Order: sequence, then structure tokens, then C-alpha cells
Amino acid sequence: MASGMNSQEARDIAYHLHSYTNAARHLEVGPLVIERGEGPYVFDNGGNRYFEAMAGLWSVGLGFNEQRLVDAATRQMKALPFYHSFSHKSHGPVIDLAEKLISIAPVPMSKIYFTNSGSEANDTVVKLLWYRSNALGQPQRKKIISRLRGYHGVTVASASLTGLPNNHRSFDLPIANVLHTMAPHFGSEGKEGESEEEFATRCAEELEALIQREGPDTIAAFIAEPVMGAGGVIVPPRTYWEKIQAVLKRHDILLVADEVICAFGRTGKMFACETYGIEPDILVMSKQITSSYFPLSAFMINERVFEPIAQESDRIGVLGHGFTASGHPVGAAVALENIAIIEERDLVRNAAETGAYMQDRLNALAGHPLVVEARGIGLIGALELKPGEIPGQRGALMNRIMQDKGVISRNMTDAMAFCPPLIVSRAQIDEMMGVVTESLDILQ
Ligand code: PLP
Repeated sequence: MASGMNSQEARDIAYHLHSYTNAARHLEVGPLVIERGEGPYVFDNGGNRYFEAMAGLWSVGLGFNEQRLVDAATRQMKALPFYHSFSHKSHGPVIDLAEKLISIAPVPMSKIYFTNSGSEANDTVVKLLWYRSNALGQPQRKKIISRLRGYHGVTVASASLTGLPNNHRSFDLPIANVLHTMAPHFGSEGKEGESEEEFATRCAEELEALIQREGPDTIAAFIAEPVMGAGGVIVPPRTYWEKIQAVLKRHDILLVADEVICAFGRTGKMFACETYGIEPDILVMSKQITSSYFPLSAFMINERVFEPIAQESDRIGVLGHGFTASGHPVGAAVALENIAIIEERDLVRNAAETGAYMQDRLNALAGHPLVVEARGIGLIGALELKPGEIPGQRGALMNRIMQDKGVISRNMTDAMAFCPPLIVSRAQIDEMMGVVTESLDILQ
């Protein structure tokens, strides 16, 4: 690490306000400056190598130096660096990508809308749900149910959907019309003597009760991640989704699957909706769609969602919504290449097989005195540590120990998350788990 007044660290402290960082503490702690990447590894400005056990932010599926993605971006930059999709305009990459995504969708979908981040996608989903309810002559149907511990982004509407206190505190959120129901975490929410199956039934009953209290005809949609990520990697009970969908169907409430983390292989299938038999009306994706080499997000809608929106925009004269960079040609070209590579190299299968191996290794630590629970599916998992005196303190310490030993993970309070790139090998999982085990022993 360089030092001195002109070092990168000093200039970062001087000028850069960081996301998800204690802004006051950063003035003392400073940044870890990452300079380059190679496969699942990144290197800091002192030349130290780290295994990226989080694939960046659950996102760099193909690892940190995939030349084909760089070439796809370069080719597109040279051919057409920018064009938009306002006023009936389009371009080849976005057309090809829209067709490709519809062709691999887990359920029949009608149209795709492109955005630039998961937050923007979910924000747009909220707006379109309201637009659709108005189009249907049901202006009272504006409420959206999400879940405690769910994560859907940080814009005003998407942060409201997010069910984590720190995304609301002092931001004057959530906005009206957003409701939260319980998280499907048997480990922390299950009652004494309750089976996992009974717990799943209780989750569905609580959703039903909320819908009844609010009035079924006031609810536009239920939004959820198939597997919760930022809330602590929460894998639902086996029958959870079947029971939740039965409630939604009974009341004709739309289902939005937020697959921003799960899509493109993470759970061992191309979409987590396939893993869990989820039939969404809207499916949101981002992150691994380009392996995060370019900011791009999108959501697919089915005909039930599209039709009223089309009619309303015809009545008004325009769909009054759009981002300058929606469906950016460079992002679309990178996404197409990224999906082609995932298919060619059968990385979804790698996520299932190497993922099962990772889960075995995590489960083997479930008996460790500091571990409360090991959980996960495919290439996403977590170890829940026994909390120390202050919740999150032990997780933060474990994080620091692992980073010093060359593994970057992330603690969500005391849950240590593991979400390596889709290209990861068994040997690299062994290397990661070696550091995890050593770090737990140091913590003890
Ligand atoms: N939805 C989910 C499930 C996410 O995990 C995230 C980000 O982690 C988002 C939405 C928000 O995405 P972004 O950070 O790109 O705005």
C-alpha cells in the first residue's frame, strides 16, 4: 500500500464518499484499493492477491478478466457507442438481447424493459404497477408487499421495498403503499417445536392475513427474491414458494421475482424461478447479466402486465418513462456475449456441481462452536456466526481476518456470505474454505 499525502488512499479519504460505508470512520480506516483482476482473484495496489468470495457484489460471474467481454464492448464502442430507445428508436444489440432473454425466460414472457441498475429496474416496476392499476380502472390497487430482510435497491421506491432498517433510517422511508411481511428464515423465525413445513405454512398465513387486513383489491403485487441475498442469504423452506404462490393466485395479486442476484446460474439453474417452481408476472435481473462489466438491468413482463400498460400509453399518447441509457448498446453487446459464454462453458452446471461441493464444505462447519447455521444453494451460501456482545461485531472481525488472509467476503450482521464467480473450481473453493476455517479458529 502506498502512503503519503498523494497516495491513492489519502486522496480517496479526501474526496470520495463511499456507498455502504461508515463515512466518518472511513476518514481513519481508508480504502482497500483494487487494481486488477484475474479469474476469481483481485489484486490491490500493493500487489496482494484476494480470492473474491463475493464475486464483487454477487455479480462478476465470469471472473475479473474475461477477454471476450472486453472485446465485445470494444467492438460495440467502435460500431455504435451509444443510441437510445426513445420515440420508436432501436439498435441491433438491444433487439438481439431482448429476443435472447425472452427465449430463455423460465415462463412465457411478452416484453423486456431495460434499465441500468437493480434499483432503477425495481423503481420502474413500481411505477408500471401503479400505471397498470390505473389503466385497469383500479386506482385503489397501489400497495406492494415485500418482505422484511428483502433487498430491492436504494432509490426512493426500491429502498422502500427493501426490508432492512438501515435503508430507511433517517431517509424518511418507506413511502406509502409499501408493506412488509415476514422473512422465510426458519433458523431465526421458526418457533419452538415447529417443523420447517409448518413454518412455511405460517409464512403463507401471515401473508394471507396481511392481504385480508389491507383489502385484497388494494394490493398490486408481491415482490421477493427467490433466495434473499443482502438480507443474509436466506434460503426458503422447500414448500415456501408453492404456498406463497397459492395465496397470491387466490387474490389475483401479481408476483415480481427479483432475480438481480439469482439470475444467470447462481442457484444451479439459469433462473432461480426454475429452481423453486416460481411463475412470476415480472422477472427482474441485473448484475450477472453482464458479469457487471457494464451497468445493465432489465425486467421481463408477461402479457397480463403488458396489455393494460400498452392501452394506457395509447390513451395518454406516450409511456412517459425512460432513461437515457436504457438498453445501452455496449451493455447489450456485453450481455449477449456474457450469456453466450455461460451457455458455451456450461457454467450453470458448474454452479450446481461446484456449488453442491461448496455447500458440503460450509455444512461441515455447522458444528463449529462459533457457527449457528450453514445455509445456501448452488454457488450462494452463508455461515451464521454466533453473535458477540454487539450484533455484527463478530462478523466484521471475521471479515477483517479473512481479508488479511486473502479472501474477500462480506458480513451481513453476523452472517458471512459466500457467492464466488460462476467459473470457480473445487480447488479454489478448497482454498477459500481453508481460509474460512483458519479464520474461525483465530476468532475462537
Ligand atoms: N435487487 C436485489 C435482489 C439486489 O441484490 C440488489 C443489489 O444488490 C438490487 C436489487 C439493487 O441493485 P443495484 O445495486 O444495481 O441498484
